[in-house]
Order: sequence, then structure tokens, then C-alpha cells
Amino acid sequence: FPDSLVNLVRGHIRDIPDFPSPGILFRDITPLLADGPALQALVDGLAEVYRGRIDAVAGIESRGFILAAPIAATLGIGMITIRKAGRLPGPVIGVDYSLEYGQARIELHPETVVTDSRVLVVDDVLATGGTAAAAASLIEEAGGEVVALGMLLELGFLQGRAALTGRQVDSVLVY
Ligand code: AMP
Repeated sequence: FPDSLVNLVRGHIRDIPDFPSPGILFRDITPLLADGPALQALVDGLAEVYRGRIDAVAGIESRGFILAAPIAATLGIGMITIRKAGRLPGPVIGVDYSLEYGQARIELHPETVVTDSRVLVVDDVLATGGTAAAAASLIEEAGGEVVALGMLLELGFLQGRAALTGRQVDSVLVY
């Protein structure tokens, strides 16, 4: 990613100790979202990196949605919603996966993925990689090709890339 984009992100993240539980340093992107010019530069910058290389952007609920939709709209392509269990109406496909503490499930409307389309999967933070790996497998199960996992922030010490071996992981900023 261009240095301008990296510096923009670095300058607008707030660190919140012990949230949501003791010992976790939460990386809060709300200052970045609240700054209009920064948000615009971020969305435009991310869209340009992928222009011509993708056919759709998949966002992971909730903070992935915030980034995926404007990137997709900027490029004039569709956005795919990957949601927490039980939120999507009608037939879904889903995958269960492990979090640091406990279990989770995400779901997808398979017909929102065009067969053989090139999909960018977006989320705010790559931590253990469990969520991103589950999202990528869902897109593939639905017939899409995962071009890359685009992350604003990567917590390198949690080794998320190890859960994503063989996949392209693009993180704007690595901690
Ligand atoms: P993962 O462990 O990679 O499956 O991450 C699960 C989700 O938790 C991601 O969607 C992140 O948005 C969120 N997350 C995990 N750790 C943090 C953190 N330190 N700060 C902010 N968000 C986090």
C-alpha cells in the first residue's frame, strides 16, 4: 500500500487497553471513520489498489461492512455481506470456526457470489485469522475466487497469516 495510506491509518487509530476484556489492546478505527477527509482518502486509496483486479468486495460483519461497501461503490462493483449466524433471511451457507475464546459462525447468501468472480474479502483487524479464513472458505464454497484478504490492521503477534497459508493477505498496517 502507498505510504500515504499507511500513515493515514496509523494516525487515526485509537488504542483502548483492556477492551472488551482484561489484557486485550483494542484497536479502535472510529477516529478514522469520523474524519471525513481521512475516510475519503482511505476508501479511494484502497479502491485504487484493487481497481480492475476484482469483481466484488465481501465485507465481514460488522466493521468489515463499513469499509467494503464504499470500496465496492467507488469501483462500481457489488458488495457481498458475510454475516453473523441468524441475521440473513432465507437460505444460507455457513461455517463454524474457533475464536480465541469460544466458537462463532458466519453465513452467506450463496447467490450473491457470481461463479468464478474475483472477490476481495475485507475486515478491519486480522487477529488470529479464524474469521478471515472462515470468510474465504465461504466465498469459495459459493463459487467465487478469493483474490486477497484486505485488512486495515494486522496483529502480527497473533500469527493470523498461519491460519491463511496460501492466501494473499494485504494489511495496511501491521502491529
Ligand atoms: P480473528 O481472531 O482474526 O478471527 O478476529 C476476529 C475479529 O475480532 C475480527 O473481525 C476483528 O475485527 C476483531 N478483533 C480481534 N482482535 C481485535 C483487537 N485487538 N482490536 C480490534 N478488533 C479486534
